[in-house]
Amino acid sequence: MKRKMWGAHGPVPVKVKKNLKAPDGEKCHGIYLPDERVIYIDADSAKDPRLGEVTLEHEWLHSVICDAGGQDIIDSELHEWFCSVVSAALVARRHS
Ligand SMILES: [Zn+2]
Repeated sequence: MKRKMWGAHGPVPVKVKKNLKAPDGEKCHGIYLPDERVIYIDADSAKDPRLGEVTLEHEWLHSVICDAGGQDIIDSELHEWFCSVVSAALVARRHS
């Protein structure tokens, strides 16, 4: 697992955390916290190479959108959909 990703506003640290939960208490594979400017990846998800990779790309895309000011422009459902679709495409292209 990478320890750092890069965005328009600079480095984004990546931290692996056991039993990662979203702010609503739901277990999740990963999360980007814009206030901390940190990507967290669930430890169990990080152990699975493909899941860890797609989760990292997904969360990185959240950071990219936030850096671009997009979080206030697109609704959260569209935001999630975009990050899921593009992260899957990035991983597929890397492995094709
Ligand atoms: Zn997401």
